[in-house]
Amino acid sequence: MIKKALSIILSVIMLLLCFGCNTGERVFSKTFFAMDTMMKITLYDVDEVMANQLFSICYDEILREENLFSVNIAASDISRINASKGDNVTLSQETVLIIKKAVSLSKLTDGAFDITVYPVVKLWGFYGNEYSIPESDDIIKALGFTGSKNIEFLGNSVRMPKNSGIDLGAIAKGYLGDRLKSIIKENGVESAVISLGGNITLIGDKPNGEPWSVAIKSPFSQNEFIYEFLISGDLSVVTSGAYERYFEKNGKIYHHIIDPDTGYPAESDLASVTVIGEDGAICDALSTALFVMGKEEALTFLSQREEISYVLVSNGGEITKSENLS
Ligand code: FAD
Ligand code: MG
Repeated sequence: MIKKALSIILSVIMLLLCFGCNTGERVFSKTFFAMDTMMKITLYDVDEVMANQLFSICYDEILREENLFSVNIAASDISRINASKGDNVTLSQETVLIIKKAVSLSKLTDGAFDITVYPVVKLWGFYGNEYSIPESDDIIKALGFTGSKNIEFLGNSVRMPKNSGIDLGAIAKGYLGDRLKSIIKENGVESAVISLGGNITLIGDKPNGEPWSVAIKSPFSQNEFIYEFLISGDLSVVTSGAYERYFEKNGKIYHHIIDPDTGYPAESDLASVTVIGEDGAICDALSTALFVMGKEEALTFLSQREEISYVLVSNGGEITKSENLS
């Protein structure tokens, strides 16, 4: 219980500082708990009735996606794949699309982001918070069932071999941010902040027209921030870090971001990775992948993709950021 509470607190890794907004400007916020994460939506310059209607629509969307994508809900699309033992599983079109997007991001990152890491994450006990250090033979066995090549698409169904499976934990919250952004914008709101644990999605600018100020939480100290920057427009800011979810055994920390090559928690020289961009799902997948890659490989990857904004915090506290951030 204490571990769970700690993980919830740690998952709130970024704070939006809304200078210049005051409650007289018709600001409404609502907090939700779903996907084992605290979520908060703040709408600016709306009336109360509209705000409450939108909160209700957004919460329905959050639950709808949790019911499709969770590995912990037996009837979800993803759990049905994971229990399928080699059979064809018919899925919603939306699930097929997010799996396809994840597979292409896996290729882009040379497998550093890999949703088929499911059997390995399960071995480490990260799904039920029943952590244990697996035997190395079991890790090698589980790695034999990973890899995107194991996902076979047949129209709106997917087939995976027995013991293989899918985990959308490193992309689904980013995707959810995109969905909530569309819903809120379609309803005419021009200024909003969607906070889903370590993921932030922004709509427009602050109501006074100024850019948002985003602060990244320090990976080294719970109540401090390590870097702050200004951004405007419909952007997502997604952070991955080893300190988000972990357990400790014999003085060693075992965190939840797995290196798909080794099956062990990634031995990264990065303490946290923040990716900023228009597509929250891509930002989410890339923040996990860049963490796995480590600083040198991450910077090589990023040097070929100038459209991606980023903040890398190394284990020593050094900050490396894209030039466009101020
Ligand atoms: P990210 O870095 O974005 O993702 C890390 C997560 O992705 C890991 O926890 C693992 O699941 C997976 N992963 C690890 N390595 C890799 C890799 N190399 N490539 C791809 N994926 C990898 N948690 C619970 O305890 N109980 C729940 O009921 C629960 N329900 C959830 C339902 C949904 C739909 C989702 C999306 C998540 C749920 N979670 C639940 C998970 C929880 O919120 C995770 O902590 C979160 O998804 C991890 O996101 P992150 O941003 O911290 O880290
Ligand atoms: Mg991620």
